[in-house]
Amino acid sequence: MGYVFENCRLIPELSGGVGGEGLAVAVEGGKIAAAGCAEGFEGERIDCRGGTLLPGLFDSHAHLSYDYYNGVIRLDDFKLLINSCLSAKRYLAMGFTTIRDMGSPKRLSVRVREAAERGLFVGPRIVSGGMILRPAVSDTQADPNCFLRYVSGAAEFERAAREEIGGGADFVKLYAPGEPSELLPEEMAAAVRIAHRLGRRVAVHAHDPGAIDMCLDCGADTIEHASHIRPDQIERLRSGAQHIVPTLAVLSGDIPTPGFTKEQKERALRPLLEANGRNITAAYRAGLVMGFGTDCDSADLIRLPGLEFRMRRERCGMGNIDMLLQATKYSALICGLEGVTGEIRPGLDADLILVPGRPDEDISAMYALPELVMARGRLADGV
Ligand SMILES: [Zn+2]
Repeated sequence: MGYVFENCRLIPELSGGVGGEGLAVAVEGGKIAAAGCAEGFEGERIDCRGGTLLPGLFDSHAHLSYDYYNGVIRLDDFKLLINSCLSAKRYLAMGFTTIRDMGSPKRLSVRVREAAERGLFVGPRIVSGGMILRPAVSDTQADPNCFLRYVSGAAEFERAAREEIGGGADFVKLYAPGEPSELLPEEMAAAVRIAHRLGRRVAVHAHDPGAIDMCLDCGADTIEHASHIRPDQIERLRSGAQHIVPTLAVLSGDIPTPGFTKEQKERALRPLLEANGRNITAAYRAGLVMGFGTDCDSADLIRLPGLEFRMRRERCGMGNIDMLLQATKYSALICGLEGVTGEIRPGLDADLILVPGRPDEDISAMYALPELVMARGRLADGV
């Protein structure tokens, strides 16, 4: 069934150059059929009452199975699956029509993706990272989320990357904590080599410069968090196909962390937050095309809509259009979905959100849940 959105605003940077007020967008067969003028198109008419129609957002660093309240470790698999499906619906209600899941227990995000694709519920597009590959030297007790897969040595990393992809992962997620990084260059290189050979990308958790250097040298596609990125590393990223995905929301004291009060979390994270703010600001000012991620539990995030926008504005002084591009078109590019979603253009998937006001002029329009969310031509039914 088709839809015609009437009386909407479009932002040219996000809509293939078409912008202005009193416009229309037509949707047919799950795709955008026309943007600007929808004359001659049939379908259910939706009056946008002058609101702004945006491409659906990306959370390019999500964790479907974070569950701080129940504690993943205590949940049986069926309960975990139900909770993760509900989490997917929450992301969609926030306007995230695509999420890149950065690690879930038992590759659960692959199953949630399947449940949504088979029509069990209207959910976001899920780009799944399977389980996270982490060097086995780490503390194997410290995984309350059960999403780490401990491996050691280049051969094991290669095998594990193959198995994650074989098990349905869309990309490979590596964990490179510490300075110097616990992950060895030959381990990262082995995972990148096999992933690229199989046509998949590699994302690496890397806050520290040593791990970021390794990502740059080994050809990892995305550097997650990148809190301590150095100017010379920013320079290297300016010309290439590698990108950073900052995640500021998770550093907010307003996002609860188990075992910490808000004040304790803010005190503990202050040095990281300050370094992150300083270095991501430098990366932004250098003009890097960067992704948009939150790294939060969706149950927390939905209580603070737009937190990632707010943090990027307050901590890094980012401009409204730049943030909107990061959350849509740039994230689509980074996730390998350019030409599929991330813009309002004929032929792309009908991933659309309607927000009141003018987020390009006042980003606080994003600090509330969208009025309407459409994912691949289907209207979200809320949570
Ligand atoms: Zn994460």
